[in-house]
Amino acid sequence: MKHLIEPTDLTRAEISEIIALADRIIEHPEEYYEAMAHKKLATLFYEPSTRTRLSFTAAIKELGGQMLGFSDAAKSSVAKGETVQDTVRVMACFADIIAMRHPIEGAPLAAAEVSPVPIINAGDGSHSHPTQTLTDLLTIHRELGHIDNLTFGFCGDLRFGRTVHSLIKALSAYEGIKVYLIAPDALKLPEYIRHDVCDLKGIPYVEVDSIEEAMPELDILYMTRVQKERFLDEDEFDRLKDNFILNAEKMKLAKKNMAVLHPLPRVNEILTEVDADPRAAYFRQVAYGKYVRMALIKSLMDWKDDPAHPMPEKDHFTDDSLRCTNPKCICNNESVTPYFKRTGEIVRCAYCETKI
Ligand code: ASP
Repeated sequence: MKHLIEPTDLTRAEISEIIALADRIIEHPEEYYEAMAHKKLATLFYEPSTRTRLSFTAAIKELGGQMLGFSDAAKSSVAKGETVQDTVRVMACFADIIAMRHPIEGAPLAAAEVSPVPIINAGDGSHSHPTQTLTDLLTIHRELGHIDNLTFGFCGDLRFGRTVHSLIKALSAYEGIKVYLIAPDALKLPEYIRHDVCDLKGIPYVEVDSIEEAMPELDILYMTRVQKERFLDEDEFDRLKDNFILNAEKMKLAKKNMAVLHPLPRVNEILTEVDADPRAAYFRQVAYGKYVRMALIKSLMDWKDDPAHPMPEKDHFTDDSLRCTNPKCICNNESVTPYFKRTGEIVRCAYCETKI
């Protein structure tokens, strides 16, 4: 059964199918009003979220289905100490498909290990956010018409920005991608993405110190917010937060058909004066997020018992002598089997990808 825990759980062909279905839904929404009739989506949100949760809510409702779940784990049995795996076993008795957001990395993977229904990772800590990635890919496809051979600038918080991590992973399936990383030292892209994705899968990247340096080359500028809630040091946060801001002046350096994306919420990294620029795609991106989630929910339900759409082979293994050192990993917070994986010479935790 297909879950969506990582963007790489979908093949490039499956992503294309989902994008094509989203296109079709945008053109003919009425054809899909009953597509999920009598089906239920559970949204288990252990971390605050407005747009992603409401996007899932709008998506299931527009497909004629229903929604249940919680947006505040403190008010559910979680407060009594229930584990993610138990919560999912229970919710799967009520729902046909589950979307989970969790501050602990790897929680959706732990859920998928025991779930009899498809699990969608709606964001786990600073690790991954694959439905935002599908949103981003649909936006790029709608704005520029193709995804291959594009040059991306990722700007802001590349360290904690899970949407950046997931999008770069997904881009490894496309041809001719180049990446500019525009971030201060303290917010650089994690080692596992640079090594496992950029180096091993061949995405060339250049690290630069300012938007201006990269701007004329870019087809996509992907802006992100500094993730204050994941920062441990408030002083450091205050020192960095005003760096790397996009304004109308900098937009003058960009290509005529470049698109600016942002997963939102925006704080101050894009001045509102940029909003009127036709290249500012971030509010259109929100709308695409609903359509791509409709397409994803329908596809995962259609593929559930279809052997043509298996989960990819993960090659996870156990080894009692190894231990994940990430305190924010599910394997250090709940009793799950600690799994590991190998990428080249390196052994990583299968849940959070920390190097062992
Ligand atoms: N909405 C995105 C996320 O959930 C980005 C952000 O919060 O800054 O990761």
